[in-house]
Amino acid sequence: MRVGVVGLWHETNTYSARATSLREFEAFEFLRGDDVFRRHAGTATVIGGMLESTDLELVPILSAGAWPAGPVTQDALEAIFGAVERELEAARPLDGLLLNLHGAMVGEQLGDPELELVQRLRAELGEVAVAAVLDLHGNPSPALIELCDAIVAYDTYPHIDMRARGREAARLLAEIIRGRALRTFAGKVPLLSSPLAQATDERPMRELKARAQELADQTGVARISLLPGFPYSDVERAGFTILVTSERKDEATARDAVATLMREVEALRDEFKIVRDDPVTAVSRALEARKRPVVLVDVADNVGGGAPGDGTALLAELLDRGATGAVVPVADEGVAREAARVGAGGTLRADVGGKTDAWHGSPVPIVGRVDRVTDGRYRSTGSWMTGQEFSMGTTAVLDVNGATLVVTERAVPPFHAEQLLSVGIDPREAAVLVVKGAIAWRAAYGDIAGTVIEVDTPGICPLDPTRLQRKTMPMRLDPHSLAPQERSDA
Ligand SMILES: [Zn+2]
Repeated sequence: MRVGVVGLWHETNTYSARATSLREFEAFEFLRGDDVFRRHAGTATVIGGMLESTDLELVPILSAGAWPAGPVTQDALEAIFGAVERELEAARPLDGLLLNLHGAMVGEQLGDPELELVQRLRAELGEVAVAAVLDLHGNPSPALIELCDAIVAYDTYPHIDMRARGREAARLLAEIIRGRALRTFAGKVPLLSSPLAQATDERPMRELKARAQELADQTGVARISLLPGFPYSDVERAGFTILVTSERKDEATARDAVATLMREVEALRDEFKIVRDDPVTAVSRALEARKRPVVLVDVADNVGGGAPGDGTALLAELLDRGATGAVVPVADEGVAREAARVGAGGTLRADVGGKTDAWHGSPVPIVGRVDRVTDGRYRSTGSWMTGQEFSMGTTAVLDVNGATLVVTERAVPPFHAEQLLSVGIDPREAAVLVVKGAIAWRAAYGDIAGTVIEVDTPGICPLDPTRLQRKTMPMRLDPHSLAPQERSDA
């Protein structure tokens, strides 16, 4: 059973001013052939999990991914598709494909690049078995779902089950190749929810997951996946997706299970609405809080959601209030380079952050001492993407009246405590720690947080996704009808 492994991973925020070009893939991951397995073997990634399969002879083809940002350039997509085609030539013949996708990728020109990838693979290989893993934030199109035999999405947010899902997809694919006739049925609810409402160990997702498990146990379907989706995407396929993978002969049962879960999601719709304090109120509360460190969550400047990481709403307020002991990350390429030029011990005057677009506050003038400059490289030891190496680019630690600014060349999501530890900052010692994310930061700092204050900051990942202007309306997909229907009450 020769099976090709292809990865294409990007969570696209269509409101981001930063296009995702080939450079961003090359900086994060653009691996061909044997390099795919060399990089992923033994890691807690989806492909790392796939590689644990003992049933399949896995053939590496390509794995490309980039940090979340704006739509992917056509040049990047053509480079990726071209590389897939070349690698596929050497990999044939294949009995199946294992795909590590995201489900919320959008191109500048191609509306659904992941669909395009699978269509091209199908055109090359014909009716081979296909199993895919998607992110829980995926917004898979009906056409993409149709082209895959089995789909599993991450069950956890923060995503700590990537390896397990990779392993599961490999197991399902082996069963399909041996003759098990599986198919995936889908429904979509036009509900755009903040990632803050999507944590899987809290209501409402915890309830929905329990209900899905119950249904799976009752009906014997192979797999139910719940994807609350990525709301900061102006495409019709955005929204809450329910996927049920079952034997083809149990189609009616599977479609009923999808419909049941759609009703459950509708019933909990109000629980997906979130209200939090504004920056001024939140900083006041943070300064009064006794249990430290206080984690101030800059929800709308969520780097893992494609925001630029240079939002200044919390930085400005903390500096105004003289918050000593605060640790604040800011992505600002120019200031990071300038700090490197000044060097450790020098004094830096600069306008920090707020430069990418008009959504994330104004640049903040500072005078600070450069404490340290590094190349920003670190290796993750935490629960997320364990063992992988990352780079924040040139990184400067600045002391501004007792507050610590961590200025990075690149925006990096707060997934790993090593981002601070590697530049000599112990997050446990911080009075206040700003994180630019919604939920994912918990994998890094959840254990040490004394107090958590989520803040309704300005930015392109707002608490209420409907604050962003949309040109499209999320679709309703009824599991009992073949064609998606439009609905306008999202
Ligand atoms: Zn995700």
